[in-house]
Amino acid sequence: MSEEITYKCWMCGKTFSNKEIELIERISCPYCSSKVIVKIRGSSWKVVKAV
Ligand SMILES: [Zn+2]
Repeated sequence: MSEEITYKCWMCGKTFSNKEIELIERISCPYCSSKVIVKIRGSSWKVVKAV
């Protein structure tokens, strides 16, 4: 249920968890506000683009 997912910002390269994103209630980098972030889940990477 509350699985923690790690994201990595495509722009600034910082990583953060889905819990940090929940705080700002949108999918974007909490550091540089980039909307292009990569979901890191196990060994599979997935580019997430928020509109
Ligand atoms: Zn960033």
